[in-house]
Amino acid sequence: MNQNERSQSDKKERIAVYPGSFDPVTYGHLDIIKRSAKQFDRLIVAVLNNTSKNPLFSVEERKQLLAEVTKDIPNVEIDSFRDLLVRFMRSKDADVIIRGIRSVTDFEYELQLASTNHLLDGEIDTMFMMTNPKYSYLSSSIVKEIAQFKGDVHELVPQVVEERLKEKYAARG
Ligand code: ADP
Repeated sequence: MNQNERSQSDKKERIAVYPGSFDPVTYGHLDIIKRSAKQFDRLIVAVLNNTSKNPLFSVEERKQLLAEVTKDIPNVEIDSFRDLLVRFMRSKDADVIIRGIRSVTDFEYELQLASTNHLLDGEIDTMFMMTNPKYSYLSSSIVKEIAQFKGDVHELVPQVVEERLKEKYAARG
């Protein structure tokens, strides 16, 4: 590699992708977003458009909520994908996947996922962030369970998400 090529590669932006369902985004996700955004030039939070799950919020709604709660973090972008994750990453010139780990149970599944992605594309690595212990029990499913029965979720999700949950369940009657 000559000096010119080396300085070009030194300048390459470090881009990571944080994929997930985010149905809806919680303080646990937001904590991972804030911490990992500090480690990269750009962080793309990518909503998985997965037709086999039965989401409460549409992909567009989930993206809007993510955009709203990350609007003060300049190097965070919101996107969505339905293709293979590694292919989406290539299209964005990203080579690091961020995932959050809450428990040993998360770890087993995440290890399988990371190994598969690495098998599909050996250039791509997964980095794990341990949850903030405050949020180790927190998941989007728990939030939905509580909100569905009009429980208080203000310590679990940002206010805009809390409001949207209320509207969603009120509309469903
Ligand atoms: P998925 O359906 O891909 O698991 P989620 O939206 O549930 O999507 O989670 C996306 C990522 O965020 C996963 O890596 C998950 O482990 C992580 N995550 C979810 N909740 C928390 C939390 N409370 N603390 C840390 N990481 C979390």
